[in-house]
Amino acid sequence: MSWTTPLDYLVIGGGSGGIASARRAAAFGARVALIESGRLGGTCVNVGCVPKKVLFNAASIGEALRDAAGYGFDIEVGGFDWSALGQRRNAYVKRLNDVYADTLEQSGVEVIRGRARFAAGPSVVVGDQLFSAPHILVAVGGAGRLPDLPGAALGMLSDDVFELEKQPRRILIVGAGYIAVEFAGIFNALGSQVTLAFRSSRLLRHFDSLLGEALGEEMARQGIALMPHSIPRALTRLPNGELSLEREDITPLAGFDAVLWAIGRAPATLALELEQVGILPTLTGHIPVDAYQNSIVPGIYSVGDVTGRFELTPVAIAAGRRLADRLFGGIPESRLDYTDIPTVAFSHPPIGTVGLSEVEAVERFGVGNVKTYVTRFTNMYYAMTDHKSKTNMKLVTVGPNERVVGVHVIGLGADEMLQGFAVAVRMGATKADFDSTVAIHPTAAEELVTLR
Ligand code: FAD
Ligand code: NDP
Repeated sequence: MSWTTPLDYLVIGGGSGGIASARRAAAFGARVALIESGRLGGTCVNVGCVPKKVLFNAASIGEALRDAAGYGFDIEVGGFDWSALGQRRNAYVKRLNDVYADTLEQSGVEVIRGRARFAAGPSVVVGDQLFSAPHILVAVGGAGRLPDLPGAALGMLSDDVFELEKQPRRILIVGAGYIAVEFAGIFNALGSQVTLAFRSSRLLRHFDSLLGEALGEEMARQGIALMPHSIPRALTRLPNGELSLEREDITPLAGFDAVLWAIGRAPATLALELEQVGILPTLTGHIPVDAYQNSIVPGIYSVGDVTGRFELTPVAIAAGRRLADRLFGGIPESRLDYTDIPTVAFSHPPIGTVGLSEVEAVERFGVGNVKTYVTRFTNMYYAMTDHKSKTNMKLVTVGPNERVVGVHVIGLGADEMLQGFAVAVRMGATKADFDSTVAIHPTAAEELVTLR
């Protein structure tokens, strides 16, 4: 150990939340160390947002190549090289790992390599070293989980997609959340045959119903086989080598060379030995925290996926920074406001959503106080192409002044469209404010300010 002065802040986990909080604290002059057992950058950089977005971009290019003829291009596509893209993607991620190591060093954050666990004190053990600090942040994130079913390990998790040397020809994806719909769109656009099996009747059932329903229609149009009401019972490998998913009460789904489980993620709390310091995780293994990210133990805090709220990179970053502002920056009331968090599902087409769904708004404000505005149209981009993909939009407004409490969009460009509308929602914009904003033409986004 190179310190001559004691630590102010000990951060466990070098992912989105941990790095952001450590660097912010160091910027205030705190003495900070960060413990990381794997690759710097955590889930987002190594096996999440970043490599996923590379695949999303590749899939979008695949779609554009198919549309090119409509725009007058005479193109023959020789094929798609999964492995070549993988190498370039891995090199990019490696560069990012190095950038994180450099920026942490430049920020004055000491990086300790190894797996951390708690010991009495409270203190933290890494290998044969013991650390303590008046402020300890737990930002250990989580990992994909397999279902507790016979043969589940024959399937893979999202991390494994980035290790695949060959693109699967026929893939079954189980789940209806972010990862399931994103990878279904990616594999389909890159030429795999995709089956999507999910236990409910709708995709993305926690979003406004318009989004999951429209995505289901689009996926079916694109040739993805949608299998609702599929409750997995077992995964087996047939004598011919193919994988088969047995389902409750219905016939098995067979004929796959790969199966991806996308059924949610589990927090990485088990190895932490939280009981040593008196923290009792929730039934799902998450660390309970209050609005200021305080755990039940004074001086121990938690941010990010391990707290089980909005498992999104910008949320982990914002919570980590606000916490550092509070602990070291002299801003005692600093905390993340978890309302109106915008999010994008990088499905094909993408989805952007912020605020309340129609159902949530009705529950909160009463049916008579909620008015929605909906539109469905074909983006002008498809005027020149053989296939037509719909854009769907919904504004959810409440009260006599029609304050906009929800903006929900699925369609080409929705991913880049939503950030600015999220600012408007947070500022309390009304439908009249939307209407008084001059449209940008010709775009899809302009429909949001011309809704009737
Ligand atoms: P992580 O980023 O998971 O960091 C935790 C770190 O702690 C890891 O590096 C881990 O190695 C380390 N660690 C764990 N246990 C220990 C220990 N005992 N000792 C030391 N170190 C430890 N979010 C978005 O906003 N947009 C997206 O497009 C998006 N796409 C995603 C795609 C996929 C496939 C996945 C899986 C996730 C995606 N996410 C996305 C979610 C996003 O990656 C997470 O919300 C974010 O990474 C959470 O940050 P975190 O700091 O809480 O945890
Ligand atoms: P999600 O929570 O989004 O979705 C989980 C899905 O798995 C749901 O459809 C759920 O079904 C289903 N499910 C849960 N348990 C079972 C089971 N035992 N058998 C069958 N199906 C089951 O999790 P993901 O794994 O897709 O992603 C994890 C998190 O990572 C996300 O919540 C998100 O926060 C983050 N992420 C963010 C992305 C982004 O910002 N673009 C991209 C990828 C991930 P049901 O609907 O019936 O409950």
